[in-house]
Amino acid sequence: MGMASDRRYGRRTGRKGQEMLYQALYVHGDVCVLCGQPGANSLEHLVPLALGGHPTDPANQNVSHRTCGQRRGVRTLAQWFAENPLPTRDTLKPSREW
Ligand SMILES: [Zn+2]
Repeated sequence: MGMASDRRYGRRTGRKGQEMLYQALYVHGDVCVLCGQPGANSLEHLVPLALGGHPTDPANQNVSHRTCGQRRGVRTLAQWFAENPLPTRDTLKPSREW
């Protein structure tokens, strides 16, 4: 049950989750991996945990908007981008490997 001291971190992320989010933001910047827009504020697992993705391996972590992550649910990135193509923007170079 919710401890008062953890409320500011939300339901799903304790202090460890917050540290992983900061680390991911440091590594990846604040561009949402799901929609390509800045302002990411949530840890996103490239392979959803429900599909066997590693919960704490940085290689399986990126950042997203909380709302985007909620919309993604347990889709794979391939499924997500098939349904939600990134907008073409000159400033974005989607040359990374997913
Ligand atoms: Zn987003």
